[in-house]
Amino acid sequence: MSSPDPDRPSRALRSAELLAIGSELTNGETRDTNGGELAAALAAEGVTVRRISALPDDLGAVTAAFRDALASADLVVATGGLGPTPDDLTREAIAAAVGETPEVDPELEAWLRDLFGRRGMPLLAVNLKQAWLIPSATSIPNANGTAPGWWVDRPDGRVVVLLPGPPREMRPMWTGWALPRLRERGLGDGRISRTLRLYGIGESTVADLLGDAMLRRANPIVATYARADWLDVRISAVDEPAPDGGDGRPAAAILHETTEAVRAALAGHVRTEGETGWADLVAEAAEAAGVRIATVEAGTRGALAALLAGVPAVERCIVVGGAADADPEAWPVEARATDAARDAGVEVGCAVVARTDTTRTSLRVAVAVAGDEESSVMDLRLFQHGEHGLFRAAVATAAFLIDVLGPRGVDRDRP
Ligand code: AMP
Ligand code: MG
Repeated sequence: MSSPDPDRPSRALRSAELLAIGSELTNGETRDTNGGELAAALAAEGVTVRRISALPDDLGAVTAAFRDALASADLVVATGGLGPTPDDLTREAIAAAVGETPEVDPELEAWLRDLFGRRGMPLLAVNLKQAWLIPSATSIPNANGTAPGWWVDRPDGRVVVLLPGPPREMRPMWTGWALPRLRERGLGDGRISRTLRLYGIGESTVADLLGDAMLRRANPIVATYARADWLDVRISAVDEPAPDGGDGRPAAAILHETTEAVRAALAGHVRTEGETGWADLVAEAAEAAGVRIATVEAGTRGALAALLAGVPAVERCIVVGGAADADPEAWPVEARATDAARDAGVEVGCAVVARTDTTRTSLRVAVAVAGDEESSVMDLRLFQHGEHGLFRAAVATAAFLIDVLGPRGVDRDRP
């Protein structure tokens, strides 16, 4: 199948608007996950996503949304509404918005007939809609369904990408087909970024340590994201043009300098970078210490075992009880950690017990890490409860385990 014309007058694709089309999204039967996924992918390319909208299967509303989006953004990506039924109107809407008429494309029709034939299904008249194209569109092959996508070139260099709604069809068409071609066209502003992952510090303290000036700058952008397991600080930069048209500062230099400044301001709290998770850090720490680990947990519903799944050094995980009501006094963590190591025949045992307090607003957590000769114990109170609280208890246990094994994070000056 053909590709969009690479010689077309190009326009840098710096901004995008995303449309999620389908009444199942606006009546709450289905959540729009495509919008968030595409936004993350585009943001990573340095594209500014101006808006994400969900729209009902209404020809007028979708046509107007395409017109609006094309008046403001360089790139429009829409998902959904490419099915064969009359309520799937995305093709009609973009055709109306750009003033073209859809026609059955012989190549697509042959592909559809072959596909239906191999599945032993008759090709009905309604299915022919899935073989439609408009003159300014190129079809995007769909290996997992009967709805091809569309790539639409506008005369001013803007691009519209239509993808089917089901995420398992949409994803490979986006990553395998659309994204590489968008990159060829010049996607984003050349933004590069790094993410520092912090633990044991709150977002407001981070904001305070970094200061208003750093957090308000346009280039580099320094932003904080509080996640369940980390506080992420993302630093991103673009090339800085010189005011007089001479040599400016390259993004890489700006990023490097700011990352060092952020690290210095947050010394002691940066644990790792990028996408690294707690399981990776435990694996690294155990390998560096040359130990194998056995864990035992009570009142956590297996949160620690789930967090550490796949860590090669963790040889055994025991989950005691189902409910979060184990009593820290009746369950001595130090002895349990020692027993766990001995029973599994490994060097390190780690035990954690969590109990929801009587007001059901916080969790009391006790952790012990026992080695050959000594053990370390930690008590803490987490002002969270439910699944989220238990996850935080598991994260606190992993952080403590790593500290006892010997910190090996990006930051070596951690207290
Ligand atoms: P469609 O392409 O409109 O026929 O979409 C078919 C199915 O894909 C819907 O019934 C949903 O289950 C799913 N879907 C459509 N749009 C989205 C979206 N934005 N996010 C997640 N799932 C979606
Ligand atoms: Mg639909």
